[in-house]
Amino acid sequence: MNKQEIIKGLKLYLFDMDGTLYLGDRLYDFTPTLLEKIKANGAKYMFMTNNSSKSVLDYIKKLDKLGIKAEYDDFITSSQATAYYLEKYHKNATLYVCGTNSLKEELQRAGFKITEDLDLVECIVMGFDTELTFKKLHDVSKLLLTRKDIPYIATNPDYVCPTEFGSVPDCGSVCDMLYNVSKRRPIVIGKPEALMPQLAMEKLCVDKTKTAVIGDRIYTDIKSGINAGTVTILVMSGETTYEILNNSEEKPNFVMESAKEIIDLL
Ligand SMILES: [Mg+2]
Repeated sequence: MNKQEIIKGLKLYLFDMDGTLYLGDRLYDFTPTLLEKIKANGAKYMFMTNNSSKSVLDYIKKLDKLGIKAEYDDFITSSQATAYYLEKYHKNATLYVCGTNSLKEELQRAGFKITEDLDLVECIVMGFDTELTFKKLHDVSKLLLTRKDIPYIATNPDYVCPTEFGSVPDCGSVCDMLYNVSKRRPIVIGKPEALMPQLAMEKLCVDKTKTAVIGDRIYTDIKSGINAGTVTILVMSGETTYEILNNSEEKPNFVMESAKEIIDLL
């Protein structure tokens, strides 16, 4: 099958957001047309993000501001995937969450109890914590060192999160600080792991050969697609340069200047 046949045959498009559909607070002009055209073709799309500092409701608001109407079920986030993972492997566990209130709400919505009483903790969850305090680092250190048997999970492995001035430390960097203390590494849930694409495909009952992961980062977006066995489309509208692409061992199925090229193939 050629490129057009493969793209046209897709039933599920899993889009990374920043760098793929918008950049910071600027929506790419092709994005509304692209999403409409996918729907008109009878296919589905979901927004897939590693950012666990925001809840799905936060993202619905953010997209609404940019002019895109979205619903709860249009998203697959590392917070949702973490809830799913916990449900499957640590059902009913009482959690210590080093994350934002948004992440806590998401996990509570999934039925989990959250505590700050360290004696009651049965599982540690690390998120991209934009509300991080030294108290939380202290508590997680204590848990990691004194309760070596309890599961330790991180929503996403990213070291940095882009900002208008460069970047700030993300979940992976904080986990490195805790590694220095405990020599323990968490089980990681978000991209580049396969779990988020797998969950999306399971939810919408679409086969991996009819699913594409579309994103601007090879080491998270594209790798998660490769790990989940989907079609992968790298867009050059965000972080990746041709130099990075050429030096990368992981190669996407298709490379596009931007996701706009999908419109012309549909
Ligand atoms: Mg991106």
